[in-house]
Amino acid sequence: MPPSTAAAEPAAGRRVFRFAPSPNGDLHLGHALSALLNHDLARATGGRMLVRIEDIDTSRARPEFEARILDDLDWLGIAYERPVRRQSAHGPDYRAALDRLAGMGLVYTSFASRGEIRAFVAARPDWPHDPDGAPVYPGFGRDDPHAAARTRILAGEPHALRLDMARAIARAGTPGWREDAADGTPAPITADPAAWGDVVLARKDAPASYHLAVVVDDGAQGVTDVVRGADLFAATAVHRLLQQLLGLPAPRYRHHRLVLGADGRKLSKSEGAASLRTLRAEGATPADVRRLVGLG
Ligand code: GLU
Repeated sequence: MPPSTAAAEPAAGRRVFRFAPSPNGDLHLGHALSALLNHDLARATGGRMLVRIEDIDTSRARPEFEARILDDLDWLGIAYERPVRRQSAHGPDYRAALDRLAGMGLVYTSFASRGEIRAFVAARPDWPHDPDGAPVYPGFGRDDPHAAARTRILAGEPHALRLDMARAIARAGTPGWREDAADGTPAPITADPAAWGDVVLARKDAPASYHLAVVVDDGAQGVTDVVRGADLFAATAVHRLLQQLLGLPAPRYRHHRLVLGADGRKLSKSEGAASLRTLRAEGATPADVRRLVGLG
């Protein structure tokens, strides 16, 4: 099936932008660029601006970070609609999407531990890796009978629900998307979801993976424009495939340049990149932050 970008036109009406931080640390300059771009584009186009708290990973999300993030956004002068959507409040929405995909025969249960996957891949030096650099899942469990998996799930075994990528592509094709450059020039992108292999959709203790949650949320919130960092460009192929399977409209996408640290590497919360809070404490103004991220 040829890539389809025809569906990538936004619905008529006001455009809907969103900034979707994960509350597992303080915002840094990379987040500021994302949030400010969304805000500026919403303002320039008479669109709506939403904030979504991506707290589906309860092992990492902390309410105190959410409060600090919202406070930083207020300080930056970013106006957004309230109440904000929190993923932790929408388990049933993700479950319903998962059930639809399962009903199409596209979901299987895998019980392989990370150690088992590592050992399998270590013995095969040429094993393929996904765009994030993780080994493509070897498919353990893909052909197991459903009833056997059900018994193991009921017995409480740790497991992941995975998308059968080959079948999903056979059903939906490889839907492309419209990517807007920094100056707004649109370009059609051909998606390559196969490179990701059988991605995780949910786990025993997590009702949805990032990929599933983001697609369900963007659909539920009527998001027409996804503006986010270039590190999520490759994942868009998976998102478009899931949107197609779930009958959700295709947003337009714009993946912006990343803000790099003095060492030329991407800023990261875990490596202690200077947070907006630190900059604020040192006396920076919102205008300084705009300048620092190149929006001066
Ligand atoms: N929650 C993701 C992050 O903080 C962003 C997801 C998205 O914009 O699609 O990196």
